[in-house]
Amino acid sequence: MDPRELYQEIILDHGRRPRNFRPLPDASHTAEGKNPLCGDHVIVRLRYRDGIVEDVAFEGSGCAISTAAASTMSELVKGKSRAEVDALFHEFHELVTGKGVANLEELGKLAAFAGVSEFPMRVKCATLPWHTLQAALEGGRVAVSTE
Ligand code: ZN
Repeated sequence: MDPRELYQEIILDHGRRPRNFRPLPDASHTAEGKNPLCGDHVIVRLRYRDGIVEDVAFEGSGCAISTAAASTMSELVKGKSRAEVDALFHEFHELVTGKGVANLEELGKLAAFAGVSEFPMRVKCATLPWHTLQAALEGGRVAVSTE
């Protein structure tokens, strides 16, 4: 299978049936993010304890790219430390901005977003959930905007 088709399939699948799209009543950290350019709105909640993301969930509404980005992110960051989350976001950011990544395999499903680098308007859609997750990890209820 052409990797591009596989990537497209992953994004469509996660856009239509987002994983961890639910409330998280025992969340310890929450942040809200908005991308006014596209109208994406995401609320990321996590249970962060002893330096580990024990659980993560999101809600909101947005385009297929932002929804799929939040969904794949939620799958990948669960069980990870803050440093691991930061490293993943760094790699993901390099990928979607077309800078290339050292190890595509390490990114798993996130590799599906490689094509986003061809559409600069979409980079903010793909990174919004990650910026919001970082804001949540910084602590408290905070709002971020990509503008
Ligand atoms: Zn969007």
